[in-house]
Amino acid sequence: MDLKALQSRLRGKVMTATDAVYEDLRRELIWNRLTPMRYPQVVVQVASEQDVVEAVRFARAENLKISVRGGGHNWVGFPLCDGSLLIDLGRLTRVSIDPQARMATIQPAVTGRELNRQLAEHGLAFPVGHCPSVPMSGFLLNGGLGWNSNGWGPSCFSVEAATVVTADGDLVVANREQHADLLWAIRGAGLGFFGVVTQYVLKLYPVPDAITTSTYYYPIEHLEEIGTWAAGIARQLPKEVELAMFCAPAPPAYAERCRSSNGFVCILTATAFLDTIIEAAVPFGLLESCPVLSRCLGKDVLQPTPLDALLDMGGRLWPEHHRYLVDTVWSNSPPAQSLAPVREFFLQAPSPKSLALFAISTGVEDSAAVLPDAAFSMTAAMLLLCYAIWERPEDDDANTVWHRETMTALDRYAVGHYVGESDIIAEPARTERSFAPANWQRLQALRHTYDPEGRFHSDFNAS
Ligand SMILES: Cc1cc2nc3c(=O)[nH]c(=O)nc-3n(C[C@H](O)[C@H](O)[C@H](O)COP(=O)(O)OP(=O)(O)OC[C@H]3O[C@@H](n4cnc5c(N)ncnc54)[C@H](O)[C@@H]3O)c2cc1C
Repeated sequence: MDLKALQSRLRGKVMTATDAVYEDLRRELIWNRLTPMRYPQVVVQVASEQDVVEAVRFARAENLKISVRGGGHNWVGFPLCDGSLLIDLGRLTRVSIDPQARMATIQPAVTGRELNRQLAEHGLAFPVGHCPSVPMSGFLLNGGLGWNSNGWGPSCFSVEAATVVTADGDLVVANREQHADLLWAIRGAGLGFFGVVTQYVLKLYPVPDAITTSTYYYPIEHLEEIGTWAAGIARQLPKEVELAMFCAPAPPAYAERCRSSNGFVCILTATAFLDTIIEAAVPFGLLESCPVLSRCLGKDVLQPTPLDALLDMGGRLWPEHHRYLVDTVWSNSPPAQSLAPVREFFLQAPSPKSLALFAISTGVEDSAAVLPDAAFSMTAAMLLLCYAIWERPEDDDANTVWHRETMTALDRYAVGHYVGESDIIAEPARTERSFAPANWQRLQALRHTYDPEGRFHSDFNAS
């Protein structure tokens, strides 16, 4: 394998498993500190689109599997694939904005924080991930459930076009006129996409003038009751209100009162992406109708929360340099049923840092019924996410067992999963179950058309 020849054709850098820095690099490629024991053979840190073309052609000539890294935020470390040539897009972060057309052209590895910082200068916004460091790259391919995703829609539907390096090493543009089937796939294909996206063209939105958040803290013994009531009022709230409940570590002010519940508290948050505080105040009246309002430990009502403040909040919920196991279920079951096991398992959670999140669909429309035709095709009334979060390797076993048991208890309420945040290592079937059956079939047919040799790493069972 002539890696020197490859290096001479690149602006970026080639590294191999025999380099002294390889192990440090391998770990740095993945955000989750629970680094998988999987070892790419060659890592190409590309510095341009042409570098991607060269890397793909080299892998093809050498018969190497290709794995792709945008920003390494996938929870199961999907870019790490044994024996592969890993294309690291981490340096491709350029953004160019056309404020009149309300469009942005971005390279894949720009983070949500940086994209929205640049858009804010033009009074524009995009539904980026909830945590500031999440890169657009894989987030958009997964579907992208970002801030105000109920109002603006899953982020992939705001991808208007993309530039892709195919398995043949060709650079193609996918939009409504050309390679429309590739654009269909990019909108939600998830992990193991059969090409490398080097550029996205995004539709932008005006920043709402009054982004406000109301937060209520309750003892977790009321989780199911609050969930039932919240699901009931959700249809009366505008879809621009993001409604979520958490089972989360109690903030210091409530820690003493949550000692008997293993340190966890139930948090209800509603963030309105509306234009006036008066508009925002109307739905918040509904939040005061909670049947256990008198048991509320504390609240912060109608706080101004610009997108930057929301991203800071996300950064605190999902701290860096921790070990994570993450899984999801989409559910239409009554919250009284699906939340009960969550409460019981959190009462015994081995780590005080773990977190559960229940995102409740708002607005009068059934979100599944209004999804445009694309690979992204799985939603339900509620998305339940469970995050085991801890720091010490010696706590791996206890947290792994706890997380798996919690998810097994939730499985019976699942209509499907979200490929972007599912544990497809523990449960490989979750990949397929993240799509409507017909959309999954079409995605596999497109994979066969665009990557007949299976050059791109798409499935650990196949690699
Ligand atoms: C702290 C944190 C918060 C998160 N919050 C959210 C959230 O609010 N909403 C949400 O929907 N998700 C969220 N996620 C999940 C996130 O969307 C995924 O982890 C996503 O994969 C991150 O993108 P990435 O580029 O870092 O992926 P990577 O880990 O770099 O890549 C994963 C795989 O995606 C594919 N891929 C990525 N980029 C490309 C590309 N340019 N071309 C071809 N294939 C590619 C490849 O198969 C790659 O191996 C969060 C994750 C973390 C760690």
